[in-house]
Amino acid sequence: MEKDEILSVLADIKSRRPCWKSRFIELKLKKLKGPDAGIAKRLTISIDQEIADKANLETMRYLLGHEYGHIYHNHSLYIYIYSIPALLVFCLWPSPLNAILLLFLFCIVLWLFSDFSDYMADDLVKDIYGASTAINGLLWVGKQTNTLNNPQRIKRLKRMGWENDSPNA
Ligand SMILES: [Zn+2]
Repeated sequence: MEKDEILSVLADIKSRRPCWKSRFIELKLKKLKGPDAGIAKRLTISIDQEIADKANLETMRYLLGHEYGHIYHNHSLYIYIYSIPALLVFCLWPSPLNAILLLFLFCIVLWLFSDFSDYMADDLVKDIYGASTAINGLLWVGKQTNTLNNPQRIKRLKRMGWENDSPNA
């Protein structure tokens, strides 16, 4: 899809699920590192250029809707919110052990949170465009990024009502 087509998909998502941050969201198409098809960081949505070129309307609705969902739910902000008490604990009881403990806790929070935040982002797509768009989009992205066998991805698919056992079927 061309950038202006992608922007019109984004405009459609914003109009269906408006929030005050909508107007500040910036869209970038670029080569993303690793298996990510898209990322949302603060108010910027970045979509991998190659993925954007191949996507059709349904898969772009999923991809953008999912990243918009992260912004809509303030996910990049939560990480900062957790850091405040963690930093406070370390300032009050500075010790190497505390530092290790907090780092460890931070990883657990991050790990749990990344599952949870993806569920919320997937649900936004499901609410706007229906379960089949969300499922087909997630399957397509999984195929493109070779992450279809990732247990986490399968969990997300099943959560939305996907019934196959083998994602390759
Ligand atoms: Zn996500």
